Amino acid sequence: MLHTVCFANIHVDPCTKLRTLVDVPRTLNAIPVTIINGKYDGPTVLVTAGVHGSEYPGIAASMELGKELEPEDIHGCLVIMHPVNVSAFWARMAELGPEDGLNLNRVFPGNATLSRTYKLAYFLLHEFILKVDYYLDLHSGDLQEDLHPYAYFPGNASEEVIEKSREMAKQINVEYLVRSTATTGAYNCAALNGVPSILVERGGTGFCCREDIEEYKDDVMHVLQHVGVTPDYDHGHLHTFTPQELTNIEYLEADKPACWFHQKHCGEMIEKGELLGYTTDFFGEKQEEFRAKFSGVMLYMTPALSITPGRVLCAYAELPEGYVPQAPHDHVHTHALPEKVK
Ligand SMILES: [Zn+2]
Repeated sequence: MLHTVCFANIHVDPCTKLRTLVDVPRTLNAIPVTIINGKYDGPTVLVTAGVHGSEYPGIAASMELGKELEPEDIHGCLVIMHPVNVSAFWARMAELGPEDGLNLNRVFPGNATLSRTYKLAYFLLHEFILKVDYYLDLHSGDLQEDLHPYAYFPGNASEEVIEKSREMAKQINVEYLVRSTATTGAYNCAALNGVPSILVERGGTGFCCREDIEEYKDDVMHVLQHVGVTPDYDHGHLHTFTPQELTNIEYLEADKPACWFHQKHCGEMIEKGELLGYTTDFFGEKQEEFRAKFSGVMLYMTPALSITPGRVLCAYAELPEGYVPQAPHDHVHTHALPEKVK
């Protein structure tokens, strides 16, 4: 049955599209949100982009989808945030928010009385995430991260939520899926609260390339089609992708500030024992070598020279036996515009 929806005290009637700024209580932040309450009955889906303010392709894709989709296209309700972390977007900061230096995707379920990033997480969870049937969070490699596109689904939730999330992730045209064991990310917290959710990673290193934007728009539309919000997308043709599921992932970090010289690019195969990179001091004296603990594929890496403790140097994963990876995608060093630039 068609019904009026309510998010953060904003009511939207059926067959109505609202584009507005939503204030985050007790912060100076307002989030640009598009709420499309459809012409037809169906589930409610939340799409967020810019939880990390400098992960651009998902933000641009969300802005464009919010502008282009109309109630006539929607069965149920679609809520899009573009971007979530507005102050981080303007500060052009990697991972963190400028007010308190915290990573929004590490503080869920948040807190209404602590600093601004905690308040933002609390607000997102209670006013949006807990009110939807499905949740899709669009990320990228951050300013200093290059990555091979992949998607996460939550591994900490009920079996039913894990399975629904995995099926959503299979609608994404990527080579790999990663089962996450985290609990403090937005999508992890959503899943723990019974909302099937995924996180997608596309593009990075501060670029906002048209090919990544278009692929992200396809990703969102495929998931929306899968859950029944846009059944007529692509003339009702359902796509099936066969991403490989990865469980053994190694995230390398430095334990002190250093200069990082990477040796492998994202998407590349690596052999057990192979040198992935090394750190030096400012005089070029070698400090530490990082070698692969197992053979696999490089999922993302930091091409930046500057490394501080707690920041990831690279992340690589073990591959299913016998799997031969696709060629590495065009990374940061080659990003020619595609032919079908719109
Ligand atoms: Zn991110």
